[in-house]
Amino acid sequence: MNPLTGDIAVLGTGVTGVAVSQYVLDAISAGAEATLTVYDERDGEQQQAIATELRRLGVTVNLGATEVSLSHDVVIASPGIPPSAPLVQSARARAHRVISEIEFAFELSDSPWVAVTGTNGKTTVTSLIAHIIRCAGLPVECVGNIGDPAIAVVGVSGPSTIIVAEVSSFQLALTQQFRPRVAVLLNITPDHIDWHGSLDAYAYDKARIFANMGEGDTAVVDIDDPGSAPYATSLRDQGIVVAPISRSAVPAGGAGLETDELLIDTAAGTFEIVNRSELHIRGDHNVSNALAAARAVSALGVAPALIAEGLRSFVPIAHRLEPIATHSGVEFINDSKATNPGATRMALTAFADRSVILLLGGRNKGNDFSELCDDVRACRAVVAFGEAGADIAAALDECVTVIRAGGMRDAVEAARQLARPGDVVLLSPACASFDEFSGYAERGDTFRATVNGGSVVNPE
Ligand code: ADP
Repeated sequence: MNPLTGDIAVLGTGVTGVAVSQYVLDAISAGAEATLTVYDERDGEQQQAIATELRRLGVTVNLGATEVSLSHDVVIASPGIPPSAPLVQSARARAHRVISEIEFAFELSDSPWVAVTGTNGKTTVTSLIAHIIRCAGLPVECVGNIGDPAIAVVGVSGPSTIIVAEVSSFQLALTQQFRPRVAVLLNITPDHIDWHGSLDAYAYDKARIFANMGEGDTAVVDIDDPGSAPYATSLRDQGIVVAPISRSAVPAGGAGLETDELLIDTAAGTFEIVNRSELHIRGDHNVSNALAAARAVSALGVAPALIAEGLRSFVPIAHRLEPIATHSGVEFINDSKATNPGATRMALTAFADRSVILLLGGRNKGNDFSELCDDVRACRAVVAFGEAGADIAAALDECVTVIRAGGMRDAVEAARQLARPGDVVLLSPACASFDEFSGYAERGDTFRATVNGGSVVNPE
């Protein structure tokens, strides 16, 4: 069914909601028989400014809304809205179709899609795949967390442009026909359980990435992760080419590590791509990310030599194990994007041979920090800050020296006092940032500024 006819509603007035609305309005101007209503549960200054602009263009806008009207044919949800939100729930009860923005964009696109999901590593792998494809000289667009909304890209790119999309479980929960040519499942570990209700429900939504795939499509699955590994077996029944990746072997048809060499195994043979020492992105998790990206692009036909070139030239993205500065022999690393214990655990693998002062804290998303006990044992100290500081201290003070600090800036100062030349001060907080900041980016930018003596340098 064409999602551009009838009574259309958009949920959300953020960047994506506005991009979807613009697309629908353009289609109406070009003759589509449709009407547009926009909803947002928020009603702040920002939403009101956008509502004024949309109303000027003839759109009905409902702010402070908790339910949608009965009339809609199709409701398109912005990516930040959880399926359990009242607006989505009421839409599901009342509207003919409720889809995510990624589904909407996919249905309107002629391009081949590569989709990446998982609890951690999505942005890194999405960017890495797009980077390798770009290095190989092919047209590509990256959509999702750090790119444009998918619909903005679909509107302007031709059918030969490869769309590489980072897709969250929220978006996957509301897909219907979404069928990427290549899909990557990195890992499924507890996160956002507060929204999904249970790990099973969360895993179910993530696995929807494969729901419509079949003959000729490729599923890249990290089999080192116990949450994602079972899919490498079950998907074969669907006729999908399964490409397992692992750091402990080179699985047939997949990609793996052999004495620090990254190898891919394809129908055309086994190829050495790069040595892990050639990667600028650090840590075991980034070896997995590089393997996943390499195998995904090889499924699109990119040659091993070009894959190697792309992997060698990729540099860390801001807030993901981003080196900030070295002061008095102490290296400061910003991994503000690590908002759950699984991400922090992986970050620590990048510094296994170093003495680390780890900054943990912020708002707990319902995790049990004692699961980090073994991982932090080798740290010089943990500095526990923010709302979750007390919980972190209680969970970890049997395993490591824990220092309490008020906010993130205090935590940096406490770490400075403790650090000796050669140490690493790592902000990899295992928590959300909302107790103190508007998001992980502001937290990371503040860390960068604090480390550099207050001078705010924002690369984004
Ligand atoms: P996402 O987009 O899924 O949030 P990012 O690429 O932004 O993932 O990385 C977020 C954090 O997750 C990183 O800072 C890192 O600590 C951790 N991480 C990245 N890749 C992986 C992986 N493959 N496995 C586990 N943790 C990872």
